[in-house]
Amino acid sequence: MIYLDNAGTTRMDDSVLKAMLPYLGEQYGNASSLYTFGQKAREVVEEARKTVAKCLNAQEGEIIFTSGGSESDNQAIMSAARYGTLKGKKHIISSAFEHHAVLHTLKKLEKDGFEVTYLPVYENGIVRVEDLKKAIKKDTCLVTIMFANNEIGTIQPVAEIGKICREKGVIFHTDAVQAVGHVQIDVEKMHIDMLSLSAHKFHGPKGVGALYYRRGVPVYPLIEGGAQERNRRAGTENVAGIVGLATALELAIKEMPEANKRMTKLRDKLISELSKIPHSALNGDRKNRLANNFSMCFEGIEGESLLLSLDEHGICASSGSACTSGSLDPSHVLLAIGRPHEVAHGSLRLTLSKFNTEKEVDEVIKVVPKIVEYYRKMSPVWDELEKGERKHVI
Ligand SMILES: *Cc1c(COP(=O)(O)O)cnc(C)c1O
Repeated sequence: MIYLDNAGTTRMDDSVLKAMLPYLGEQYGNASSLYTFGQKAREVVEEARKTVAKCLNAQEGEIIFTSGGSESDNQAIMSAARYGTLKGKKHIISSAFEHHAVLHTLKKLEKDGFEVTYLPVYENGIVRVEDLKKAIKKDTCLVTIMFANNEIGTIQPVAEIGKICREKGVIFHTDAVQAVGHVQIDVEKMHIDMLSLSAHKFHGPKGVGALYYRRGVPVYPLIEGGAQERNRRAGTENVAGIVGLATALELAIKEMPEANKRMTKLRDKLISELSKIPHSALNGDRKNRLANNFSMCFEGIEGESLLLSLDEHGICASSGSACTSGSLDPSHVLLAIGRPHEVAHGSLRLTLSKFNTEKEVDEVIKVVPKIVEYYRKMSPVWDELEKGERKHVI
């Protein structure tokens, strides 16, 4: 099997599993209990909090553990909205191509009377700070813009956005689920007020994440109950998951320079070779993108058919985000960068990890053009394009 869906989820590193195992076995104590047996669990949770804080240049009191990226996004946005309501500020700024964990939360707030401005992301898939400056109003309570896009990998000007928000006194949250463990992040330097991360996107376990919130930024619980996580997230601590998250993050940051160098080389080979397919186009900025992200549209094919054929060749790929597969609507991300509907349907996303080899990439480069050609031959739309009865868009 060739696994190229690392923006969807990643394989756990063996060392991460090893670090977690004791807490799934004999070390089953409750981190919130008073006896010594439970205190061991408390110690490793606090050790993990320190590690995560250090990796982001934050303080340990600024990290809470959650069930993952979706929960962290929900909590950050709902907290800022509640604070905004208290202050009479009900305007939020975001971007047109956020993850659904952000977009659907914002849709809910719109129903509750919030106004949301969605900044355009242009053809290169990057928001412009001039647009942000113009959009900020007196009653803006939150700017939430992702660090790197999960479908097309484009990296946003987070430090500049943070600077503007700090100057204007507006809370800035970033969904950094695709970026943490993949690019250098310094929450102080980048003026980030809240940040979401998720362990399973950097070779950690699924179902555990964290929310960073700067001292003084109001964060309210999404889940009510016990006093865990300084009263901000009730529920018995997922000790093994938290240990796994911290172990994976520390490892990812240590390996980042080398891994990114390797993945960039493989990604660039995919881009240059698969660009040779006629009427194809790379999605998102060529340079300002994650080292592991390849995303392209091929005219005249259906992305779903392409994925099924790749699966028959043992290749795991995606057409975009896992959350939109199974729905017939084209990806909101591809529409946001201006791809017409019919082109957005013919998308392919390949996302690498440190475990991928050049041999695997060569296999993909051999297989994809053949599949694209096969489906184009069968497509009536492609026939019309070739006969000139319909105009090529890309
Ligand atoms: C995967 C992902 C999420 C959701 O994280 P979960 O831990 O799966 O809930 C949110 N935002 C982005 C950008 C993602 O890639």
